[in-house]
Amino acid sequence: AKLSGKNRILTFQEIEDGSHYLQTLEMERDLRYALEHDEFELYYQPIVSPRPFAVRGVEALIRWNHPAKGQISPGLFIPVAEQLGLISDLGHWVLVQAVKEMKDHVERHHLFLSINVSKRQIADGSFLASLEHVLTETGFDPHRLHVEITESEVGGNLYELQQFIHALKAIGVKISLDDFGVGTSSLSFLQSLQLDIIKIDQNFVKGIPENTFDRALLEGLYQTFHALGLDIVTEGVERPEQLAFVLEHSSSLIQGYHYSKPVPLAQLEHYLKKTVTMYDW
Ligand code: C2E
Ligand code: MG
Ligand code: MG
Ligand code: MG
Repeated sequence: AKLSGKNRILTFQEIEDGSHYLQTLEMERDLRYALEHDEFELYYQPIVSPRPFAVRGVEALIRWNHPAKGQISPGLFIPVAEQLGLISDLGHWVLVQAVKEMKDHVERHHLFLSINVSKRQIADGSFLASLEHVLTETGFDPHRLHVEITESEVGGNLYELQQFIHALKAIGVKISLDDFGVGTSSLSFLQSLQLDIIKIDQNFVKGIPENTFDRALLEGLYQTFHALGLDIVTEGVERPEQLAFVLEHSSSLIQGYHYSKPVPLAQLEHYLKKTVTMYDW
């Protein structure tokens, strides 16, 4: 017989679900607190052109320094922030912080700054609304700013996305398609967007150079994107053999542990200084 009412015994599955619920509630409370108490930090990962070596840009990647739980990766809390409607506040913080922290560095080292933007920030107009204000306020050169969107955004409202891209391009900001290959968009669909840069997801690189299929696939992507006139960033390059493969088949920029993990601002400053001394003469 089916038990009902408040005093019935919960199944294991329900207990599991319940604890997830509690975790999310706990995270919601903590996320709201964190936003008000400055618990977030931006890490930066260099994006380089390999030959001749030059750091061309950096991607800002958020970290949450939770007072009790330690550092929490964005893969865990960004989806929760999106669900809770907190992503626009968080995204605003990222924009302001990144632009402030990087303004002098991008000028001194001729870099671009790349930041990630979520679907929700595009849909509610909050990103566009704050962007121009932030750029004017800080004097940050819009041409040095890249905005990364992902294929899931591309799969949403196409007209809305086109308008968003149009508005960004009108002020000189560049558009980067992040994590290419994770979603399901067709190439012709991508062509209907005025993209400047394609970032090939690290999954395409993992099997390089051992896997024949992966090699053929990556080579094909390079040919296609070069033919389309897009700039390319290859993500997830970790090993020298992978770098060698990229060098052989494209003029792609590289982002990966081979050069550097995402690092705190102070460490990025050190990296920029060090690499300038190493390669600038
Ligand atoms: P993403 O935008 O694709 O960022 C690249 C991710 O790949 C980063 O993970 C980076 O640490 C990792 N990565 C880079 N090179 C390598 C490599 O050689 N090997 C491996 N195994 N991994 C590499 P991270 O920092 O954990 O960020 C994860 C995702 O969280 C980001 O993926 C992005 O989608 C999201 N995210 C991070 N910061 C923000 C933000 O400020 N706003 C929004 N909306 N999303 C963000
Ligand atoms: Mg990204
Ligand atoms: Mg990516
Ligand atoms: Mg990724």
